[in-house]
Amino acid sequence: MKITGIRFGMLRVPLKTPFKTALRTVEQVEDIVVMVHTDSGQVGYGEAPATAVITGDTHGSIVEAIRRYIAPRLIGMDIADLNRITGLIQGAMEKNSSAKAAVEIAIYDLWGQLYGAPLYQLLGGGDPVITTDITISVDYIDKMVADSIAAVERGFESLKIKVGKDIGVDIERVKAIYAAVEGRALLRLDANQGWTAKQAVYALQTLEEAGVKLELVEQPVKAHDMEGMRYVTERVHTPIMADESVFGPMEVIELIRMRAADIINIKLMKTGGISNAVKIADIAGMHGIDCMIGCMLETSISVAAAVHLAVAKAGVITKVDLDGPSLCATNPVDGGVIFNESEISVTDAPGLGIREIRGLELLAEPKAA
Ligand code: MG
Repeated sequence: MKITGIRFGMLRVPLKTPFKTALRTVEQVEDIVVMVHTDSGQVGYGEAPATAVITGDTHGSIVEAIRRYIAPRLIGMDIADLNRITGLIQGAMEKNSSAKAAVEIAIYDLWGQLYGAPLYQLLGGGDPVITTDITISVDYIDKMVADSIAAVERGFESLKIKVGKDIGVDIERVKAIYAAVEGRALLRLDANQGWTAKQAVYALQTLEEAGVKLELVEQPVKAHDMEGMRYVTERVHTPIMADESVFGPMEVIELIRMRAADIINIKLMKTGGISNAVKIADIAGMHGIDCMIGCMLETSISVAAAVHLAVAKAGVITKVDLDGPSLCATNPVDGGVIFNESEISVTDAPGLGIREIRGLELLAEPKAA
């Protein structure tokens, strides 16, 4: 099965409610879909969102990186040479992690199709059912409490609460939500870099003294402030998780060496795809550090790949934050991963099992010079 070409599409899906964090507000998912074609007629699918404030990737940069730097290295490559292909993708250029991820996801999809097995089985197997949390966007306290209660009633047992706007209001937000759902759902806070290290320690110690038990707090300080992350981790009982601070395996090694956080959030759009995500899970596992698997605002193409990885690495990836598909108003994809609110299950379809993508707008190929 040899690669013959790569094509692109744009997939737009409205969100049920606007997604609001300390960094941004988003109304709809708008992702680049990558289709890797082969001489056998089989097509592999990948996907990447523009997340300029986190990874630096934009729609234009994703397409340009793949078209000019990654695709030319892959044409004619045999899908069976998986490790060589992922090496070519990762070495094609610096950064551009989302572009690399989209292509890797499509390649792994084809790798599964080549051997007629669902991806998680080729990655080591596992129990093909996992449970995700759901994001509660940062908003007025009453709205966040109402959204949290509604999520619990939809069956979610873990809520990821977005904070990081105003430290005083953040503390009140969390206390109010905790009181409303106590005993029915675990709370994960995501500050999205919105606090200083001292503010984070103050907020978490205040919450701890008030009896609020949090499962974890994600990325309290700025992405580059690894010292600040360690400062917080050393001073609170609540487990601290690194998200924007760690992209690839090298940063994970540095974080572990510094003991800067207790948990690592793996996202394919940060790692540059599945090959590095596997490395991170293995490094973390060796050091007894748990991982979460997360996603950006993605649909069930790229999130499906994250699900397969999470199933295969469930011994290390103990927390799942793959709520992209359940935040979407509709599911545009018929595929091998079934998203049913908090429960995500995987069928035995080969690769990612994607049969149809509804509403995909194909992007025109540039005219030959
Ligand atoms: Mg996060």
